[in-house]
Amino acid sequence: MIPQNFEYSAPNNLNEALALLAAGNAKVLAGGMSLIPLMKLRLAAPDHLVDLSRVTDLKSIREEAGAIKIGAMTTHWEIEASALVRSKCPLLAEAASNIGDVQVRNMGTIGGSIAHADPAADYPASLLALEAQVRISSAKGERTLAIAEFLVDALSTALEPGEIVREIIVPVEAAGTGVSYQKMAQPASGFAIVGAAARVRKSGGKVSFVQVGITGLAGKAFRATGVEKLLSGAAGSAADVQKAAAAAADGVDPNTDLHASAPYRRQMARVYMARALTQALARAS
Ligand code: FAD
Repeated sequence: MIPQNFEYSAPNNLNEALALLAAGNAKVLAGGMSLIPLMKLRLAAPDHLVDLSRVTDLKSIREEAGAIKIGAMTTHWEIEASALVRSKCPLLAEAASNIGDVQVRNMGTIGGSIAHADPAADYPASLLALEAQVRISSAKGERTLAIAEFLVDALSTALEPGEIVREIIVPVEAAGTGVSYQKMAQPASGFAIVGAAARVRKSGGKVSFVQVGITGLAGKAFRATGVEKLLSGAAGSAADVQKAAAAAADGVDPNTDLHASAPYRRQMARVYMARALTQALARAS
């Protein structure tokens, strides 16, 4: 199908982009991997597309004040391949490497992914486990939100009209942390039927730190705090992992669609959470 007519602008800097967005029914275009199909199906019909591909300030990965700061227009491939992300925030690099296929990873951006807020997207499980923050800009100013506040529901975020995701801020991973992202991928698209992200540390023979996130299971990704409580302070044996992972879907109303029923997704969340915890514990030193 053919999209409705629209105006197109490709500003050269962020201020120009913010001014264009403040003017009316305009939408940001990043990699176009999600937005263009929606426009072709006429599920989105913006009057004006503001293409961010020339806004180079949004395409960077840098380390600053104990954090890795990733510009919104950084592609999944750039995150997967970045030596800085791989060494200082390996969970995010692993999540990026799991997205779609090479073409999607070369075009799609981290800002576009979180702004689109697909409930089966890969980044949110890891960003929640990492307690990432989202820096947002508009013509009126700036604000920074925790990723848990930013993700409101399926395809819904806390972004207000005129706002742009500017960068995603993740802490530099602490020494000794083991991480893992494990996903059951829908075979055609690669989207997560369920995806589980885990970060763990051990000290004195016990699990001293554990943060986990799950995507694909519900309307939005979430921190599985029941899993965290059960594993925290345990020795981290295979039995401990199974017991903790059994809580992965507690309190959640799982999605049902043509790819997986709710009971199947619930069970897969437990299985993939156990896999993520097992690998993260094996990687923790
Ligand atoms: P666009 O499509 O350009 O934009 C998406 C939305 O975000 C639009 O509403 C746009 O206005 C808004 N937006 C974009 N950038 C910003 C910004 N900086 N600030 C504010 N709003 C913004 N994703 C996964 O996680 N896992 C997968 O396995 C996966 N498989 C895929 C397979 C296929 C075949 C395709 C087509 C996509 C797949 N995706 C997958 C989605 C992919 O990751 C997209 O890149 C992503 O969802 C959207 O990013 P984008 O840069 O293309 O954004």
